[in-house]
Amino acid sequence: MEDTQIMQQRKTTIGVFAFGDVPAIVLKVIAAHISGYLKIDAEIMPSVTHPYYALDRHRLQYDCGLILQTMNANRFDGYEKVIGVLTVDLFVPILTYVYGEARQGGKIALVSTYRMRNNPHSKSELSSRVYERTAKVALHEIGHLFNMLHCEDEKCLMHFSGNLSTLDKTPLYFCRYCTVYFRDALKRR
Ligand SMILES: [Zn+2]
Ligand SMILES: [Zn+2]
Repeated sequence: MEDTQIMQQRKTTIGVFAFGDVPAIVLKVIAAHISGYLKIDAEIMPSVTHPYYALDRHRLQYDCGLILQTMNANRFDGYEKVIGVLTVDLFVPILTYVYGEARQGGKIALVSTYRMRNNPHSKSELSSRVYERTAKVALHEIGHLFNMLHCEDEKCLMHFSGNLSTLDKTPLYFCRYCTVYFRDALKRR
């Protein structure tokens, strides 16, 4: 009995959930990337309601800080970390927009498909490139949840991407230094 409990405590599962209406395939691609590249179990969770409260009426964008603060009340028991997926434009006060957001060492990260299209205002179908970009940002934000900082190495998932061409050049894996850091972060828990 005790052994089982210890096993359960050590098991890392990352939950992936939608805020409102997000195409199911986006959640599936993110979960597949988490298990495929980070080698951590990922599970799709029930969706939560769209964060209307976080819409800034002047910027017409959604405030990441408000969403994270509100979601903090939810304990997400059974999940080591969770990532919430949106389709709306996200911001933090100091930046024009963000692709995703996470607090260092926190539990909850956000990612949005909104700016993953070359033309964010286009309502055209999501393409496989959009899925891959979204998943890449999701993995990067999960890195922050495991306390990882931005990395200077352009060939590293933790390299900061402020535009799509940088994001497209960023790989889905960590550099050697960050790989070691990430493995250690998983062990240290
Ligand atoms: Zn970052
Ligand atoms: Zn790195």
